[in-house]
Amino acid sequence: MGDSPVNLLGLDRNGLRQFIDVLGEHSYRGDQLLQWVHQHGVIDFEHMTNLSKQMRNRLREVACIALPEVGHEQRSADGTIKWLIRLIDGNGIETVYIPEPDRGTLCVSSQVGCALNCDFCATARQGYNRNLDAAEIIAQLWLARSMLSDRTEDGRRTVTNVVMMGMGEPLLNFENVVTAMELMLDDFGYGLSRRRVTLSTAGVVPGIDRLRERCPVSLAVSLHAANDSLRDQLVPLNKKYPIADLLAACKRYIVDAPRARVTFEYAMLDGINDSPEQARELAACLADVPAKVNLIPFNPFPGTSYRRSSAAAIDRFREILSGKGLLTVTRRTRGDDIAAACGQLSGQVRDRTHRSSKMAVASMNQQPPPNIGMH
Ligand code: SAH
Repeated sequence: MGDSPVNLLGLDRNGLRQFIDVLGEHSYRGDQLLQWVHQHGVIDFEHMTNLSKQMRNRLREVACIALPEVGHEQRSADGTIKWLIRLIDGNGIETVYIPEPDRGTLCVSSQVGCALNCDFCATARQGYNRNLDAAEIIAQLWLARSMLSDRTEDGRRTVTNVVMMGMGEPLLNFENVVTAMELMLDDFGYGLSRRRVTLSTAGVVPGIDRLRERCPVSLAVSLHAANDSLRDQLVPLNKKYPIADLLAACKRYIVDAPRARVTFEYAMLDGINDSPEQARELAACLADVPAKVNLIPFNPFPGTSYRRSSAAAIDRFREILSGKGLLTVTRRTRGDDIAAACGQLSGQVRDRTHRSSKMAVASMNQQPPPNIGMH
């Protein structure tokens, strides 16, 4: 064990058992730590009353439970809450809570910024700094739970679902994301079922296969186009993993997945991907994939030239897909008045790609970015 204290927040059940083993204690002590930190939300060793005084003293010497800070909270008129989480290195990420009558969904970030540069996404404009570590990922759930009351008025838990749909590409931060999801799933952690934890990917094919083997959860794939030439433009990762390879990986995934279908996200972009022909092309493309299609009305952000498809175009698109037997829903826009909707998260990224400064020049005459004046 090194000199600096180990942050126990980012260790899953196996990690905690190993840590405890090195201390010479019985491994079930690791399970007790897990319960204290994640089930009960207790981070002061002194309050972990079923551990001996001697062990608590030892833990204080070699370990810590370090959480990032909540920098700013914004509440939408529709009840959506967005938090800016300040990381120890000065970067900031965003986490969003979306309450619905029958559930509460937390949208969690996996990276500081994003390296993928999807053309229609605000996070891409921020550039990329680094992966979040497992502690920084699970901290978003820990903090959300501590800031919301644990139960709603009708007695259910406030956070019932987690979607890895915040800033970043989760499959490019594989190990840390899996460790954090293990904590979400663990009965001594947050006890969420695999159906209620969803990972969304822009299509990292080898990552989909690894996820199937390591930690199958509900899978969402950001498709946005049904042919490679358009998808190459919208989601540049498509040049590396084209649609046919991506759909083949989805079919492998679904065999043992917790849900019967892969969700395909499709941002509705006016005049770009929303025509009736494109709906038919999408239906044909997904004909032999167990699929659910989630149409996301495009959420604009400063500096983008894309526009949201009209309600009529979205309805028509949905009807064509449904008519072909594809389960299709239009996602209701939530939190757009606080820039918390899909694709609007920006955080405070110390960009190492220099993409954000190039973009800033391009959008100088537009409205200020969403975070200006927040502090
Ligand atoms: N990198 C992962 C996780 C991000 S999830 C992924 O790509 O799946 C965020 C979802 O919102 C993705 O489906 C993304 O394509 C979509 N999105 C991005 N920008 C958007 C925008 N401006 N309007 C609507 N949806 C958007």
